[in-house]
Formats: sequence, structure tokens, C-alpha cells
Amino acid sequence: METNFEETTKLAHNILIKYSDGTFPIDIFKIIRENFKNIKLIPFSKWKAKTKINGTMFEELKTDYGMAFYDEKKYCIIYNDAKCLQTQRWTVAHELGHILRGHLSNNEYLMYSPDNTPFEMEANTFAKQFLVPFPIIRYLFNFLGRRIIYPCDIEEIFDVGVGASSNIINHLNKLRYLPTNINLENKFRNYFLKWR
Ligand SMILES: [Zn+2]
Repeated sequence: METNFEETTKLAHNILIKYSDGTFPIDIFKIIRENFKNIKLIPFSKWKAKTKINGTMFEELKTDYGMAFYDEKKYCIIYNDAKCLQTQRWTVAHELGHILRGHLSNNEYLMYSPDNTPFEMEANTFAKQFLVPFPIIRYLFNFLGRRIIYPCDIEEIFDVGVGASSNIINHLNKLRYLPTNINLENKFRNYFLKWR
């Protein structure tokens, strides 16, 4: 599979335009629960109790974060609810990316080990643009009243982890210009006005 970052980004932004309530941090759990009836969110602790398994998440599912699969006409996302909320949010957004980009019906996806494959890169792009949509970044400068954004700003406003926040700042620093998306900006404009 070839990665398509543009389509992945567009997909994340369109879902926000359609389903978000226009505030940050993005309530990913609510958005999925209310709008994606074919996706079931399952915390690992619940999965463990239900299936009566004894091992840790890694022992049972070969991942410490999350996974998505298709079962009986429904998609399921199992996520590690023992991790901090920021990690859970990123994990669920990442798995949502796998589902919506159609990775689960791609045979190649099942064969890859989950590191830096095109699938993982797309899922991470989806998570990033869903939780921290780049077209609204330019509003932050006004907002924060300075010309520089720090990882801790990203962490605080968007509720993503330290590592993700630093990666996002690095990514932003490499951009020659900030992307725009009028519909997306309109969606969140009031939020930033109110915040001041
Ligand atoms: Zn993945």
C-alpha cells in the first residue's frame, strides 16, 4: 500500500467538521459512540473480564496500546485503559484511522509488523490531524499571545501526550506554511474567541 497523507488528513478533518462539538480537546470517545454505531469501543479491562483471560494486554494481544478488528458485522477497538487518558485518546484515534482508511480489509495490513509501515504512518497521521488539526494552529498564536508554541501548549490544549506534542511541534517547524481549511476553522473559531 502507498501512504496517502493528504486523503488521511482530509478524512480526519471532515469527521471533525461533521461530528465535533467545536471544542478542544476533541472528545473522541463521544464522537465514536454517537456517530459510528458500527464501531465498538472496548477497554482491555472489560475485554479481560469478559473473555476470562489472565495475561497482560501485551501477552494476550501482542500490543500494549490498542488494536482494531472486525467481528460479526462490527468493528471493535480494544484499548489499554490502564494507560493514561492521553495515551488512550491517541490509541483510539489511531485505531479509528486504521478502520476508516480501510486497512482492516487489506491483507497486507495483517502481515506487517506494526512499526513504521505505511499503515502505521497513515493511522498516526489520522490521530494527529484528528486530535490536533493543523489548520487551527494559526489561531493559537493570537490566543497564546506569543509567536512561539511549546509542546506543553499542545499537551494542555489538545490533551495529547508529551511525546506526541513534541513530534507535532517538530512537524510544525518543518512546514513552510500552515495549512488552511475554512470549514474546519469555522467549526472551532468560537471556541478560541471564548477562550480569551
Ligand atoms: Zn496501528
